[in-house]
Amino acid sequence: MIRRRDLVKLAAAAALPAPAARRSGGYDVAVIGAGVFGAWTAWHLQRAGRRVLIVDAYGPANARASSGGESRVIRLFYGKDEIYTRMALASLRFWDDLSRRAALPVLHRIGVLELIGRDDRYARESREAIRRAGGRVEDLSRDELAKRYPQISLESITVGQLEPASGAVMARRAVLTLVKEMVAAGATYLMGAVVPPAGKGRLSEVRLRDGRALQAGAFVFACGPWLPRLFPEVLRDRIQPTRQEVFFFGPPAGDRRFAPPALPVWADLSNLEAIAYGMPDLEARGFKLAFDAHGPPIDPDALERQVTPAGLAAARDYLARRFPALAQAPLVESRVCQYENTSNGDFLIDRHPELENVWLVGGGSGHGFKHGPAVGDYAARALLGSLGSPEPRFSLATKQVQQQRAVY
Ligand SMILES: Cc1cc2nc3c(=O)[nH]c(=O)nc-3n(C[C@H](O)[C@H](O)[C@H](O)COP(=O)(O)OP(=O)(O)OC[C@H]3O[C@@H](n4cnc5c(N)ncnc54)[C@H](O)[C@@H]3O)c2cc1C
Repeated sequence: MIRRRDLVKLAAAAALPAPAARRSGGYDVAVIGAGVFGAWTAWHLQRAGRRVLIVDAYGPANARASSGGESRVIRLFYGKDEIYTRMALASLRFWDDLSRRAALPVLHRIGVLELIGRDDRYARESREAIRRAGGRVEDLSRDELAKRYPQISLESITVGQLEPASGAVMARRAVLTLVKEMVAAGATYLMGAVVPPAGKGRLSEVRLRDGRALQAGAFVFACGPWLPRLFPEVLRDRIQPTRQEVFFFGPPAGDRRFAPPALPVWADLSNLEAIAYGMPDLEARGFKLAFDAHGPPIDPDALERQVTPAGLAAARDYLARRFPALAQAPLVESRVCQYENTSNGDFLIDRHPELENVWLVGGGSGHGFKHGPAVGDYAARALLGSLGSPEPRFSLATKQVQQQRAVY
């Protein structure tokens, strides 16, 4: 039994409002994992009138979570994978609404610029998909790019595409805002580490590491890179966490060329094997640069989160080539995060094969954040039985153990 005293203490520790006293057995759904997928799933369930318990081992959008970063790109370009273009477009509306309700902005619609090289197939497919889905994208010639963005060196870039209404989501702030909002509306948030559930059929409760039991009618496990640990028999190698480095560089004092509106979010697609992307100096946190290639496998609990000299050197080398005015810019912050990759990059949103009231939601694969609202909506409708036909790409059956990335 959870005591009210514990809930109040834990809520205070996570800077969330204290929940009303409630027996642990009174929940319709327990959502385990308060990252972006769990938070939006809980939000949609609560909106559908369900009593929701949210549990997290370290706290919403904590420093180890994939959702714990400063900012995340929200873009519509996805090549031929129009399903994600449509999900991103649907999610923008929810991010907008959340941003309006939040104390500080959650969504910055500052545009997303794609820098395209000689091989423009992916960009062309993206543009067509975006237009079919009703999104906005503008073509930019090389001359236009040079005129608008003189701070970018256009070596190996032939054209550009700008999504003027896309941009960046303030990741940690977004998740915290959402959880706080749900608690204020009557949901319960609890800090605790759930141990792997066992058995078959219907799950009536889960246990925390300290022995306490939490009862609910259904359980959603949205545990990001921890999912294979919780369900080794089902998910071992089907979700592979990889180490990813992120760098923030400080532009010169008073220089507005690297802040919005002079610079939007950008992605360098001139080499699809080595995509670089980043953010302008958002909220004065520095110019963000990261590489999208998968790093080595990691343990999300124990990983020492320090960038490598080789990673920093590669980032500096890239800066010198693409943003030469930042070649000497100091590193003002860095982060080490993880992707939780499915075999091809498609999400996992499906029922556990042997536990009928347990749902698995994850496999964000380095591009999940923006889709949080749409993923949560899909997962909530799947759980409530109002989905219609399930999307085969999100099924467990399509998840392989061999990495063969196809979604970018
Ligand atoms: C460097 C980097 C850059 C990225 N850039 C982008 C981007 O620009 N745009 C984009 O859309 N996406 C991006 N992503 C991907 C996106 O951030 C992730 O797909 C998304 O955050 C995954 O969210 P999640 O809720 O599945 O997992 P998480 O955020 O990891 O949440 C899982 C939660 O489960 C909790 N948990 C785990 N085990 C237990 C347990 N046993 N009991 C209780 N709680 C538990 C954890 O504490 C954690 O809070 C990026 C990711 C990284 C790492």
